[in-house]
Amino acid sequence: MSKKIGVLTSGGDAPGMNAAIRAVVRQGIWKGAQIIGVMRGYEGLISGEFTELGPSSVSGIIQRGGTILLTARCEEFKTEEGIEQAVSHIREAQLDGLILIGGDGTFRGGMELEKRGVATIGVPASIDDDVWGTDHTIGFDTAVNTALLALDKIRDTATSHERAFVVEVMGRTAGYIALMSGLAGGAEFIAIPEVPLKIEEIAQALKRGFERKKRHFIIVLAEGVMGAYQLAQELYERTGHEIKVSILGHIQRGGNPSAYDRYLASRLGAAAVEAIISGKRGEMVGLKNEEIALTPYAEAVSRRKEINISAYELSKILGL
Ligand code: ADP
Repeated sequence: MSKKIGVLTSGGDAPGMNAAIRAVVRQGIWKGAQIIGVMRGYEGLISGEFTELGPSSVSGIIQRGGTILLTARCEEFKTEEGIEQAVSHIREAQLDGLILIGGDGTFRGGMELEKRGVATIGVPASIDDDVWGTDHTIGFDTAVNTALLALDKIRDTATSHERAFVVEVMGRTAGYIALMSGLAGGAEFIAIPEVPLKIEEIAQALKRGFERKKRHFIIVLAEGVMGAYQLAQELYERTGHEIKVSILGHIQRGGNPSAYDRYLASRLGAAAVEAIISGKRGEMVGLKNEEIALTPYAEAVSRRKEINISAYELSKILGL
């Protein structure tokens, strides 16, 4: 009998989620499965908001940011009643398995479903790139390129006015967006949560830079380190230089996914279908060195992907 597979997007949205949904639907149908879309992540499991996804339901979405299935953060799913309600809807709909597209919070939810006998496979999608078990998460590359575009523009105005800027990018606990966009954007200094902040070090670099007739000084700050306005104020007090602030915010979540994110989403979405059809469960699909790799949820959520410290150190040399 043909398999019936559910798919949902959950947690923070990320560009490329649509490309992943498309891959799940098309690969699933190719394999003879029926694909059921669940709206609003775990919220839709609890409320039973299911809709069948035919091949044409995903046409024209590979290039679109956001998620056609919508996403949500769902506190109710963390309660026993919430999960039980979700499981009973899964049983009623006779789903053989579920594909969960999201970040590590979403996979923690997947572990709860697994405990109650629901087969699931995770697909890592998060702009933060902070998931163990894959070289990159879906959405990271697009977010970095959005931040980079903004940095290039800010640098033009900074140079014209010979100004210093703090540019705050997303990343509460992970500095990958800051590191990659800062290095690629030629930032003078990058502040990330993984490395203890030394404000005096930035102040000295800023003073040296302007003494050496630098025309701009751009600090890329991951949001989790400290507030951008506070950092600007503290640097002003130490150096006497006025520092402008630009907070990029949610623009980093939207926009057309990059080629890499569409490619990654297509491969991972298809791999998730293959995995679930072949009886795998409780694992996340990832891409490591161009090969599909499966990682158990327990490992994916408990291990921390290390930041590349040598790339961070390099940014200081190149930003001299
Ligand atoms: P992300 O998946 O992007 O990391 P969140 O951390 O917000 O985003 O998690 C997404 C959703 O997963 C949460 O809103 C919640 O419904 C569910 N979830 C997260 N942690 C747990 C948990 N420990 N138990 C059950 N569900 C969880």
